[in-house]
Amino acid sequence: MYDVAVIGAGPAGAAAALSALRTKPGCRVLLVDKADFPRDKSCGDGIAPHALDELARLGVADVLLDQTPVRRLRLVSPRGTEAVADVQRPNYVLPRTVFDARLVQAAVARGAELRRQTVRSLDELDARVVIGADGANGVTRRLLGLPKPDEQTVAVAVRGYIAWETSDPEQLIIMDGRDWPAYAWRFDTGRGTANVGFGMLLPNLRATPRGKDALHERLVELVPEAAGAERLRSHHLPLTTGRPAQPDGRVLLAGDAASLVNPLTGEGIYYALLSGRLAGAAAVGDGDPGSAYRLALHQELGRHLAHTTALARLTAHQRVLDAGVRAVRDRPEAMYALVEVGLGRGLITPTLVRALGAEAARSVARRWPHP
Ligand SMILES: Cc1cc2nc3c(=O)[nH]c(=O)nc-3n(C[C@H](O)[C@H](O)[C@H](O)COP(=O)(O)OP(=O)(O)OC[C@H]3O[C@@H](n4cnc5c(N)ncnc54)[C@H](O)[C@@H]3O)c2cc1C
Repeated sequence: MYDVAVIGAGPAGAAAALSALRTKPGCRVLLVDKADFPRDKSCGDGIAPHALDELARLGVADVLLDQTPVRRLRLVSPRGTEAVADVQRPNYVLPRTVFDARLVQAAVARGAELRRQTVRSLDELDARVVIGADGANGVTRRLLGLPKPDEQTVAVAVRGYIAWETSDPEQLIIMDGRDWPAYAWRFDTGRGTANVGFGMLLPNLRATPRGKDALHERLVELVPEAAGAERLRSHHLPLTTGRPAQPDGRVLLAGDAASLVNPLTGEGIYYALLSGRLAGAAAVGDGDPGSAYRLALHQELGRHLAHTTALARLTAHQRVLDAGVRAVRDRPEAMYALVEVGLGRGLITPTLVRALGAEAARSVARRWPHP
């Protein structure tokens, strides 16, 4: 019998395996995936600095050592306002074929047993605790009897790759006013390629007559250089606004399987690593794994998730969003605060509120100038 069986060997599953082995050296960990590694995963490949902190906690920060740091962030609002800044800590853009395989390799090197298997029932796994890290369309959530996420809280995005030479790599995000929230991106690797993509909410995609083709068409409209993109592939993003409550007991959910994707940015790698780390530790700790993990997750992310939900509701109004981009345009401190909320576990800080307030006042003054 294994101490822990992890279903899914993406970032959440690999982090869970690494964390269990770190918390209780010598424990027996089974890491199961339906795919052979290296395997592709449709993703923007943007790895936030906060994810690097998690990798360091798991003792595997070296998986990003050979990558080019990308500091520049360029945001374009639906009304065309542009904000450019060099963020405080760089992002990395590493294709998931490489990133995930490196993490799995590290977990195996530390003692996890890797098995190729498509899990259909929890009885297949002879383990004390099971961690469902099987992604957006995995089976564990359903096997636990939890409902599917409400479609209003699920996005869908396509990504592809282009050749892109630049000596000044950046992460470009262009928001789309039609069917907002929706945006296109170009994430430069700094090594002659870029990851390009476009995502929108699932119900809005269903409403377009072009179906999935609309994703690629809008990508090319907003990022023309994406016209020749290769390896186009789409996937769901279950947003935190639709996350299920973790039940007590021996089955834990981490990463996308727990709907841990930031509703403002679509970033999920950081949450996957963080939740995987917490789930792995709870699985081999004392007491009920489900309640210990639920508490740990709440302590680490509870307030942040409440703030991102509030901000997602606010920025559903394009006027507020445009004011937000204007607010961070000339105020680096506000941009840094926004990055913390969108990519890490930041809160809506007084700096952010003041910047938004100042912008709102300016916009009122513009519309109703003093006679
Ligand atoms: C187009 C797109 C762009 C994105 N861009 C970014 C970005 O730039 N930055 C970012 O941080 N996040 C991004 N995300 C989100 C990010 O990709 C996910 O949040 C992240 O992959 C979650 O990791 P995970 O380990 O939970 O799940 P996954 O990476 O999906 O891994 C799940 C694993 O489970 C396996 N599996 C599934 N079912 C079974 C089964 N029944 N039995 C055995 N194995 C199973 C799968 O084979 C897979 O390997 C993007 C998502 C999309 C769709």
